[in-house]
Amino acid sequence: MDYNKYMAEPYKIKMVEPIAVTTREQREAAIRRAGWNTFLLTTDDVYIDLLTDSGTNAMSDNQWAGLMLGDEAYSGSRNFRNLEATVRELYGFKYVVPTHQGRGAENILSQIMIKPGDYVPGNMYFTTTRAHQELNGATFRDIIIDEAHDPESEHPFKGNVDLDKLQALIDEVGAERIPYICVAVTVNLAGGQPVSMANLKAVYELAQKYNIKVMMDATRCVENACFIKHREPGYENKTIQEIIREMYTYADGCTMSGKKDGIVNIGGFLALNDEELYQKATSLVVVYEGMPSYGGMTGRDMEALARGIRESMDYNFIAHRLAQVQYLGDKLIEAGIPVVKPIGGHAVFLDARQFYPHIPQDEFPAQMLAAQLYLESGVRSMERGIISAGRDKSGNHYYPKLELVRLTIPRRVYTYAHLDVVAEAVKECYKNRNNVKGLRFVYEPPVLRFFTARFEPIE
Ligand SMILES: *Cc1c(COP(=O)(O)O)cnc(C)c1O
Repeated sequence: MDYNKYMAEPYKIKMVEPIAVTTREQREAAIRRAGWNTFLLTTDDVYIDLLTDSGTNAMSDNQWAGLMLGDEAYSGSRNFRNLEATVRELYGFKYVVPTHQGRGAENILSQIMIKPGDYVPGNMYFTTTRAHQELNGATFRDIIIDEAHDPESEHPFKGNVDLDKLQALIDEVGAERIPYICVAVTVNLAGGQPVSMANLKAVYELAQKYNIKVMMDATRCVENACFIKHREPGYENKTIQEIIREMYTYADGCTMSGKKDGIVNIGGFLALNDEELYQKATSLVVVYEGMPSYGGMTGRDMEALARGIRESMDYNFIAHRLAQVQYLGDKLIEAGIPVVKPIGGHAVFLDARQFYPHIPQDEFPAQMLAAQLYLESGVRSMERGIISAGRDKSGNHYYPKLELVRLTIPRRVYTYAHLDVVAEAVKECYKNRNNVKGLRFVYEPPVLRFFTARFEPIE
């Protein structure tokens, strides 16, 4: 084996958390209790938890030490000052509005920028991001390149914005009805796919021509930066830090979920360059989150986030993370399992359409595949397909082209041996794929239905 192909852990284990080893019978009872929705399983039911990389990170000893320095002053916390200084230094934005997590920042950004009737273009939607845009009266328009919707396309920057689609939207509705363009780095629902620096620059230039702002969804910006370093000519010798700084010269602000590339368990922020927008944001943060110097986080949370952001700039950290995800992806590809290619930054995505071609999309093949993988092995994954996409204004399902199951790798939590178990379990499900039928709703909540919906198998 190539010694360097999959980088070994650049950390060692200092504390452990036992995980539940269950029998098939226990798992059958558990998935029924959970209404065939892996979101509704409990930790005691789960062996390897690949539901999400959100808030599931292992913090470093340095971050844990930072918790002890929490300054819980109601106002003017020194941990906020550290967080603010860190974001200014490492990301380069002028103003920082702390929030309890990413969607808190999305709520505030959407409220201060969107008027009813506006359009917000984005490189594919994200669930909470689009929900806030729509709640404020905007229509979302997908302007990602076509390759992003094709799980077989090996485009190295599948998250890129299609500039022609952006131009066409501007021509159609007028720049004054587009308050900002939302550019996600990386694109979660496309499979954790990155955006190239050249594309970020081109989008910003086009936006500036029309006086439209660019707001990045910075949630996995470090993964994006590492892909740029690995794939984009001219960046191979730049540091992650240098790449991040350049990325943000092509934005007017960003929303950030600290629970992902911030390597913490809770937290987030909105960062802005425009002072007037910052003033508007601070007047809303007190309504929804808390004082502008804590925004729903404790002092200790802010300290851990500030330290996490700094650690995330370490090339060894991020290169190992991408290697772990690639390792799982390569094992599945070798076994002929249909997955989204190329392998993305935070997760491997199984293509449920190809896995279960006999199950129609409105019988929820990805939801069923997630349940089958759990039954097989105790591995918890999540649906990213028709259930996540929800319904349009007239009540019809959105039918996304991608019908996926996401195997999401938490940061610094599992070893390559755990990923071997996951690969074997997926292969077993693939062997048994012809015996599996779809699901139907038993309970369907009106918004963000994937979190709490319940199902039963179709006989
Ligand atoms: C998780 C996520 C969010 C929302 O952040 P939360 O901290 O979960 O509220 C927004 N955008 C993307 C791309 C995400 O992955």
